[in-house]
Amino acid sequence: MGVRVDTIRLGMTNCFLLRGDGAVLVDTGIPGKAEVFARWLARLGVQPSAVRLIVMTHGHLDHAGSARAIRALTGAPIAMREPDRGWLERGEVNAPPATTAWGAVLMAVQRPLATLVRMETTRVDLTIGDDGLDLAPFGVAGRVIPTPGHTPGSVSVLLPSGDALVGDLAMNGFPLRRGPGLPIFAADLDQVRAGWRTLLDAGARTIHPAHGRPFPADVLRRALAT
Ligand SMILES: [Zn+2]
Repeated sequence: MGVRVDTIRLGMTNCFLLRGDGAVLVDTGIPGKAEVFARWLARLGVQPSAVRLIVMTHGHLDHAGSARAIRALTGAPIAMREPDRGWLERGEVNAPPATTAWGAVLMAVQRPLATLVRMETTRVDLTIGDDGLDLAPFGVAGRVIPTPGHTPGSVSVLLPSGDALVGDLAMNGFPLRRGPGLPIFAADLDQVRAGWRTLLDAGARTIHPAHGRPFPADVLRRALAT
């Protein structure tokens, strides 16, 4: 069963609609993007009710911001890993530590703005465990794999094609980085690298970051080797 992958840009964030027999959405973008998402669905010819699951790669505001509204629009349950799950359920905005000097600059610039934004408290329906989650029951051949490091509860989605939707486990391009590589914000970079290894061992071929363009997984393999 092939999986069709459509990139849906909600604010600064690449979200992904996966379609097999059913549809699974990966991430929901910044707050206030449910209407934009509805227009994307209409353009793709997908009924909101066709979305059977919403997978949250992690609990940051630019990924989970529209979760509540998109859950209401689609009726789909939200799947997420602890402890990020609690952030969303409490409406908690968490800023990750910067891992580069440029990351620190960007964080300082956006911190005053971040205090103005609120994350809506959102019920999370499904907790993703240590074994991850098989997406087949939701109509998509693919797996959710725990890849902590950017946040403690970060996950990636790996498809049989080798397409890996990694959230912020890697970042690519302006204004974050000059090229693909480590996230410029992360709780634990060693864990991030371990997550890269996990994905490579599981057959990842193309990395789709939430920020920036997709790139070959070999970039990660080479970075780990140096
Ligand atoms: Zn993030």
